[in-house]
Amino acid sequence: MTTAKTAPPPIAMLAELTHRCPLSCPYCSNPIEMALQEAELSTETWTRVFQEAADLGVLQLHLSGGEPASRRDLTDLIAAAQKAGLYTNLITSGIGLSEKRLRDLDAAGLDHIQLSLQGTDAAMADEIGGYRGGFDRKMKVADWITKIGFPLTLNAVLHRRNLHQLPDMLKMAETMGARRIEVATVQFHGWALKNRDALMPTLEQAKETTRIVTEARLRLKGRLVIDYVSADYHSKYPKRCMGGWGSTGLNVTPDGQVLPCHAAQTIPHLTFDRVQDRPLADIWYNGSAFNAYRGTDWMAEPCKSCDRKTVDFGGCRCQAMALVGDASATDPVCQKSPHNAALQAQANTHAAHDRASFFYRSAPGKTPAPTE
Ligand code: SF4
Ligand code: SF4
Repeated sequence: MTTAKTAPPPIAMLAELTHRCPLSCPYCSNPIEMALQEAELSTETWTRVFQEAADLGVLQLHLSGGEPASRRDLTDLIAAAQKAGLYTNLITSGIGLSEKRLRDLDAAGLDHIQLSLQGTDAAMADEIGGYRGGFDRKMKVADWITKIGFPLTLNAVLHRRNLHQLPDMLKMAETMGARRIEVATVQFHGWALKNRDALMPTLEQAKETTRIVTEARLRLKGRLVIDYVSADYHSKYPKRCMGGWGSTGLNVTPDGQVLPCHAAQTIPHLTFDRVQDRPLADIWYNGSAFNAYRGTDWMAEPCKSCDRKTVDFGGCRCQAMALVGDASATDPVCQKSPHNAALQAQANTHAAHDRASFFYRSAPGKTPAPTE
């Protein structure tokens, strides 16, 4: 049984430095209600939080957003994380990075870059990101990353509109000298949940993606690591979300709330501590949100008596909340869930929409509006 007393320390922390971003991807995992720039943590507070994270046992720091390059103090933040002894990974669209800025980040100690890919050509990538010229700029940034010699991971979110580009994405990763590519079929949280009609892959696409990834893993063994997140609604079992709630990682939002996963704010009965009010270690071990679904004691049937309960920990709490209205329910993606048949039917209905337009992510503080 995992309790506050027996929980291991977290391995990784995701620091969401800002919700600002020049792109507007319709699958963005940022919340619908985003933090304003005025509410963002200061350089000094992040510096303290990085040290607290390292003292707690965190090894890897993922710096994301929004677009982390929107923070003018990004180089100072990398230097602070490096000083705390954390391995730093910058998750970026590339927009906002120049060659000089990348060289400064290198000098400050940045260890790794994860570059997002919306598509393999300007027409696709700029439409998905809602940012004209974004693809060309990203390709320049990729060249600078290679020239400077940063270890590079490409991060491709796949959905019904761009799944056919997967073979080209794998070729791009090889050409750019990436060590790893994350092929993630879209997960329906945040803005993606609003865009299921436009983004839901068909069952055939989901199967074909798995086939392509399996073949590529064999062909590229030793040259390119492929991390694969399969299509959620078309799976038999759910994913082990966050490695298990409160077991391996934590997220800090731009305004300092500490979350067990990036979508946890969608569970209305949870309350989240802030780094401004309580030490990170105390939040990790004793915070009510972290202990709400830690371990297996909270489970109901069918998870409670299932032999996979320590394999997937009942799947995603936020997905159970969004689709079933109960965060302690079995993730409806699981074939043992009483809601699974309805989910499959819903998935087919969403995937059959051939004219759905994107509902783009808006900027913090702006009212979202549907866009063609
Ligand atoms: S998913 Fe797109 S809009 Fe959201 S933070 Fe990343 S690049 Fe920006
Ligand atoms: S019943 Fe629960 S524990 Fe068992 S496979 Fe499904 S989600 Fe996982």
